[in-house]
Amino acid sequence: KGKRAFIAGVADDNGYGWAIAKSLAAAGAEILVGTWVPALNIFESSLRRGKFDESRILPDGSLMEITKVYPLDAVFDNPEDVPEEIKTNKRYAGSSNWTVQEAAECVKNDFGSIDVLVHSLANGPEVVKPLLETSRKGYLAAISASSYSYVSLLKHFLPIINPGGSSISLTYIASERIIPGYGGGMSSAKAALESDTRVLAFEAGRKKGIRVNTISAGPLRSRAAKAIGFIDMMIDYSSANAPLEKELSAEEVGNTAAFLASPLASAITGGVIYVDNGLNAMGVGV
Ligand code: NAD
Repeated sequence: KGKRAFIAGVADDNGYGWAIAKSLAAAGAEILVGTWVPALNIFESSLRRGKFDESRILPDGSLMEITKVYPLDAVFDNPEDVPEEIKTNKRYAGSSNWTVQEAAECVKNDFGSIDVLVHSLANGPEVVKPLLETSRKGYLAAISASSYSYVSLLKHFLPIINPGGSSISLTYIASERIIPGYGGGMSSAKAALESDTRVLAFEAGRKKGIRVNTISAGPLRSRAAKAIGFIDMMIDYSSANAPLEKELSAEEVGNTAAFLASPLASAITGGVIYVDNGLNAMGVGV
């Protein structure tokens, strides 16, 4: 039987979440996505109007189908967490059931279970500020949206992940090496995400035999990356210095996610898997 995947963090066709959805769809999976509430209307109307049709083409020529788009804001676990100014915000008022707990309940009611959970989201309001200039509020917001959001997603979806299932997130090497410009506590958030990947692999493994891995991806010109402001420089740096002198494609990350979700990876858990043309292995620029 085909697998079912829930991919949190898809709001256009430029990011890693979209590419992972495509690779999983090409491997025969049914695709559900979780889309950030403020981005939901544009994403759904663009999908409907065919704006993504060219990007939906799979290797066999068919178009990727997204069975259902769920509204999601992964910084809120349940309705009691949602402050009044968000509840009454125009961009949120039109949607419902978008906290993590409610989204998991909706997926359960609609489909019963999933096999693959993907976390492809991050947010750091002060990402352009150096760590020394980052406020407590900005730092905690980065951790909340980029790290705890994963703990919460796995916690709420774990009961409906089938045995043999797999959970995957996206991280960045700024967690372990100095990448000036990746500020606002985002480097800290990725370090937490990688550490949590190990602990969650243990807990979800012992509890349900679920595997938990994170992909440390090289630079991609996504919407989120463009907001950081140094993405073109990072892409040029990688092409100039990585063992493989090519630009990384999102599809290469998508294919790794499909591998990690498959039985081919049945003994791989708790890992940080580099998909970066080998840049992580370099000790100096060349
Ligand atoms: P992207 O813009 O495609 O994805 C980020 C998504 O997060 C967006 O769809 C956004 O709407 C969503 N989001 C933000 N806050 C949210 C919230 N509170 N609740 C739900 N969704 C929320 O950009 P991307 O670069 O593909 O990012 C995907 C993942 O890949 C992130 O974890 C990112 O850190 C990681 N990553 C990116 C790069 C890169 O160079 N682009 C490199 C390594 C790792």
